[in-house]
Amino acid sequence: MTDTWEVEGGVRIPVRNAYAIGWNYPEHNREMGRQALGKLVVFQKSTGALLANGGVLPYPEETEELHYEGELVVLVGEGGARIPPAEAASRIAAYAAGIDFTRRDLQREAKAKGEPWFAAKNFAGATAVGPFVAASRVEPIGSRRLALRVNGELRQESLLSAMLRPAPELVSLVSRIVPLLPGDILFTGTPSGVGPVSPGDLVLCEIDGLPALEVRIGPRESL
Ligand code: MN
Repeated sequence: MTDTWEVEGGVRIPVRNAYAIGWNYPEHNREMGRQALGKLVVFQKSTGALLANGGVLPYPEETEELHYEGELVVLVGEGGARIPPAEAASRIAAYAAGIDFTRRDLQREAKAKGEPWFAAKNFAGATAVGPFVAASRVEPIGSRRLALRVNGELRQESLLSAMLRPAPELVSLVSRIVPLLPGDILFTGTPSGVGPVSPGDLVLCEIDGLPALEVRIGPRESL
C-alpha cells in the first residue's frame, strides 16, 4: 500500500484524495453519445483502490464490462480552496500516466437511474497511477501525446492539448468544490477509444516524457 507519492528528486508527498474529471475530450464525448462541449463532471476515485506504479488488477466482481480509460494524472503540491485559474498551474507538483478503470455496465445502470458512479469507478486496483515526474520537467504538457495499448494494439491516442479544459483549469474547478490538499491527485479525463479488457490482457498507458504505466488484468476474483 502506497502512503506517499515520490516525485523524482526525492520529494515525498502523502497520498490524500483522488478526484476525476469526466467529459474533457470532445471525441470521447461523441463516442459516448454526448454533446462535444458538454459540462464536465467531477467524481472521486478511492485511494483505497490505488494500483501505484502498475501491477496486476484482478478482474473485479459484479461486471462483465471492465473498461480502461487512459488519462493524464496531476499531483497537487500546494493545495488551497477556490484557486484562481491563473494560479493553478503553480499548484501542480507533478504528472503521471494513469488508467481510470471503470465497470462500464455498472456506470450505465447508474446513469440510467440518476445514481452516483461510485461503484462503477471504485474497486480494488481501479485507481492505477504510474510514477510521477516533476511538472517543470514535462511542461508544456499539452504538447505531449497519450497512447494506450492493449496487448500491444493501439486503442487510444491523443495530444493532451485536445482536452476541453487544460490541467490547471481542472485544478481550479475542483478547488471550487472542495479544498485541495497537498498529495491529492486528479485524473483529467480520457480521449476516445475506450473499450473492454479480459483476464490476461496487458494494458499499457504511455504519455511522452513520463514513465509508462503497465497493468496486467488478472483472473476473475472467485466468489
Ligand atoms: Mn475517466
